[in-house]
Amino acid sequence: MRFLFVALLLATTPQTPAQKAKELSGQKSWEELYLAFSSGDAKAVPAEQRATVSGALVKGCQALMKDDTVMAYSMGERAILYEESAPAIRCLASAARKTEQRAAAESALVKGVTLFPKDGSFPLELGKLLLEEQDFVGAQAAFEKVPPRAKESAEAKRLLQKARQQTLQEDAARSEATRISRRLGSSAPQPGQTRPASAMGGEEASVVSLETRPGMSIRGPKLGFESGVDARGMRVRSNSRFVISYFNNDRDFGQRADYEGHIVEILSDAYHFTRGVLGEARETPVSVVLYTGQEFATAFGPRVARVVAGKYFENAIAINNAKELTKETKATIIHEYVHATVADICGGGDGDMVRLPLWYNEGLSMFVEWKYLDVPGPDLEMVDQMRTVLADPALSLISVKQMMKVSPINTPSATMAYAISGMAVQELMRREGAHRLLTLTRDVCKRQVPFEAALKTHYGMTLEDLDSEIEKIVRQR
Ligand SMILES: [Zn+2]
Repeated sequence: MRFLFVALLLATTPQTPAQKAKELSGQKSWEELYLAFSSGDAKAVPAEQRATVSGALVKGCQALMKDDTVMAYSMGERAILYEESAPAIRCLASAARKTEQRAAAESALVKGVTLFPKDGSFPLELGKLLLEEQDFVGAQAAFEKVPPRAKESAEAKRLLQKARQQTLQEDAARSEATRISRRLGSSAPQPGQTRPASAMGGEEASVVSLETRPGMSIRGPKLGFESGVDARGMRVRSNSRFVISYFNNDRDFGQRADYEGHIVEILSDAYHFTRGVLGEARETPVSVVLYTGQEFATAFGPRVARVVAGKYFENAIAINNAKELTKETKATIIHEYVHATVADICGGGDGDMVRLPLWYNEGLSMFVEWKYLDVPGPDLEMVDQMRTVLADPALSLISVKQMMKVSPINTPSATMAYAISGMAVQELMRREGAHRLLTLTRDVCKRQVPFEAALKTHYGMTLEDLDSEIEKIVRQR
């Protein structure tokens, strides 16, 4: 009887999310705690309660670190959505490292360094991670960020020395490589040779391998690039991430060193930026072909040449000779780079084009592009146009559901369709973060789960739900 009374009492006094989180973590009911907060919008919890929910999830993350790292990671990931506290970021980063998700660990640590500059543990751990990846330049930059008075400072100094020495050795190896490649005259294409730069035989193989080691990172335009000849006999400059060539082989890298330097800088930015936003970037090299305006117009048509700065096409990023590399031009290059990344995540080739809805693919690129431009989404003029459409009962916004059958570019208003695609991905990101988004992407690409089924599994949403969210957002903005 008493038992029943208590149960009734519990049922009639609804707990707040904070109370529930506290109670479950007090009981160490980690599984239930996770289930209670594993999905749904963190913003639906009142702002003043989010820190408590986050704190409870962090406790779970820490408690499970030894025995169930995957679960610990998931809890850390949720904790951060409720509050980006230092312990939450720390726990997520450790769990990511233990589950071999290096990109996720790196992006969590970068977040820690940015949000808590006085905390020495974030740059120290980031530096160690980069050392392991043999990114000595990046490691140095990280160790230098450890505040001199932090308790991590002595260890950071010692490791900084180590990273510096490694950089010097790398530089020596690189200039040696350049010397050897000059002696071999590798910049002149030899007739009949149709081997990729990374697969050259003889002494040159070792020259190239210095630069194609996985995890090697470029931070500046001059770093880590070597000359070679690709499969078509084109002169290329490559490192582990980019293989750059000119559409017209007669052009010389020396003639346009300045322009090329800028492009390399943007591409390197694109790599780091994409990795920051999505937690991953493309790890296999992507071809980048530099066109003059004229060449680009001939290849892709004059209309396209006037409006785009680049295009991801047949496994390569084609770059239109933009006169000025403005922020918008750079954003386009980032957009194309995201396509290259998604293609890679999808298993390479054209897998992404075959399996992913085109709107989703474009939406991913739009989303990262907006992040890069630091804008909240489509510009106000576009939002106004959408509102006008919504206000007219005779019209309706193009929906992602419709775009399952028609690609955004082939809709009556392509720009609007791209914007809506971007907003759809933005909404998915807002709900569950990058890890979930990429899990869905992999399910569709690699496990061949139909997109709508994956959306249901990972977000509990249908395409109609997503469309009505977008309408809501348009009305609110
Ligand atoms: Zn695109």
